[in-house]
Amino acid sequence: MTLTDSDLTESSPLAQLADRVAGPVHLPGTEEYLVAAMPWNVAVASFPAAVLEAETADDVVAAIRFANEHGLEVGVRATGHGAFEALENVLLLRTNRLDELTVHPEGWARVGAGVKWAQVIEAAAPYGLAPLAGSAPDVGVVGYLTGGGIGPLARTYGVSADYVRAIEVVTGDGELHRATATDNPALFWALRGGKGALGIITAIEFDLVRQPTIYGGALFFDGADTAAVMRTWAEWCLTLPEQATTSIAILRLPDAPFVPPPLAGRMSVTVRFVWTGDPAEGEQVFAPMAAVAAPIFGQVGVMPYTMIGLVHADPVDPMPVHEHAALLREFGPDTVDALLPLVGPAADCPQVIVEVRQLGGAVARFPENAGALSYRDSAYTFLTIGIKAGPGAEATVANAEQIGGALAPWSTGHAMPNWAPSGKPEDVARTYDRETLTRLVTLSATYDPKSVIRAARPMREALALSS
Ligand SMILES: Cc1cc2nc3c(=O)[nH]c(=O)nc-3n(C[C@H](O)[C@H](O)[C@H](O)COP(=O)(O)OP(=O)(O)OC[C@H]3O[C@@H](n4cnc5c(N)ncnc54)[C@H](O)[C@@H]3O)c2cc1C
Repeated sequence: MTLTDSDLTESSPLAQLADRVAGPVHLPGTEEYLVAAMPWNVAVASFPAAVLEAETADDVVAAIRFANEHGLEVGVRATGHGAFEALENVLLLRTNRLDELTVHPEGWARVGAGVKWAQVIEAAAPYGLAPLAGSAPDVGVVGYLTGGGIGPLARTYGVSADYVRAIEVVTGDGELHRATATDNPALFWALRGGKGALGIITAIEFDLVRQPTIYGGALFFDGADTAAVMRTWAEWCLTLPEQATTSIAILRLPDAPFVPPPLAGRMSVTVRFVWTGDPAEGEQVFAPMAAVAAPIFGQVGVMPYTMIGLVHADPVDPMPVHEHAALLREFGPDTVDALLPLVGPAADCPQVIVEVRQLGGAVARFPENAGALSYRDSAYTFLTIGIKAGPGAEATVANAEQIGGALAPWSTGHAMPNWAPSGKPEDVARTYDRETLTRLVTLSATYDPKSVIRAARPMREALALSS
């Protein structure tokens, strides 16, 4: 037992929890609590009843049983990249101490729930192996894989969760299970897409791919070239084979020291490209995009997989963000025409990033043993990211909705779970088809009869919304 907070008194029920666990329990009113409760997305108000930094899987079991006994809910957080609000009656489990990491040179890895992709990328590289990470290596492995995972190599290799071999999870009834395609197959299905609604994962095992290098990178063009770059990108996407994964983003980056000077304080548009095949062929395939205008920054070439984070160059430091995501069935000239007045160079757009990623290729294939991920046959995923702080916060949110509205003719009305934090039923309802949602809710009732897992509640309410 480790008590780090001076006001954790014997009379508090949470003091009894501290007696049952190895990791520290933090209560409101202490600096340790504030630090432990703070998510990466600092715009999300995060004030749980207490925070437990779980040291072992047994801590997770003890915490969930404690929550069952005391009428609490249990939430989970690794990095807080996908954090959500409303944690009043919630015992928040931080997984940062569950940090085991083993790479097996024959091609797979086992990691604890607190491990980030960057750590796996580095540990796998000496063997010429690569994990199918997302665009930001700072994101947690488990959080990412529970939402499917669509990364910078997605059109070649498909959804990252399809590479999961085994998951260890403590369900809402306080039982620890190991789930694979043959042991607890229903749980195994639900955890690969159902986010954290079925239980708290303690460790995960997944296959790596043999991809020591890629041909790829990003070119940045002046904002004035946005229309030409977007139109060319929309046509070019339709010609791409599965070895190519690409996205386009309109950027309005601040004039700050962490922003490369050519991009700081101005509007730009970037095309990201990853080619998993022969580099010479990749160069030819990318040539039409490289020629669309004179780049102001960036490069595309052969790079070690350890540099994959540079393709998107997502922000690393915690920040207050508002995200709005949608899946699109098409991204053609009409879509570009609808977007340009709102996000182009003449627009007063508060979004820092407006991004479109092409899906298709291997993403759209359903492997025999696929998990609970819906809508993988969508053509594109769309995302706005704006700063939700200060006097401009409301305008950022309203503008994101306006942009989303303008895309309505091409939107499927759905979103990937990784880009729709699972705290609100209306967000959860957008992420699953009815059959998947029904099956998830049925399993949730079996494994979490008292609805102790925080994310189970909005999932159950989402089913009512979708009927
Ligand atoms: C900059 C940035 C880039 C991104 N890039 C991509 C991308 O390329 N592709 C993509 O698919 N997504 C991407 N995402 C979305 C990201 O995958 C999700 O936000 C993911 O949930 C983050 O996981 P986390 O553990 O880091 O965050 P957290 O906020 O700690 O966790 C988010 C959620 O993951 C689940 N979760 C986390 N740990 C556990 C656990 N131990 N047991 C059960 N459930 C758990 C829970 O539902 C939790 O609420 C990106 C997000 C950001 C902010």
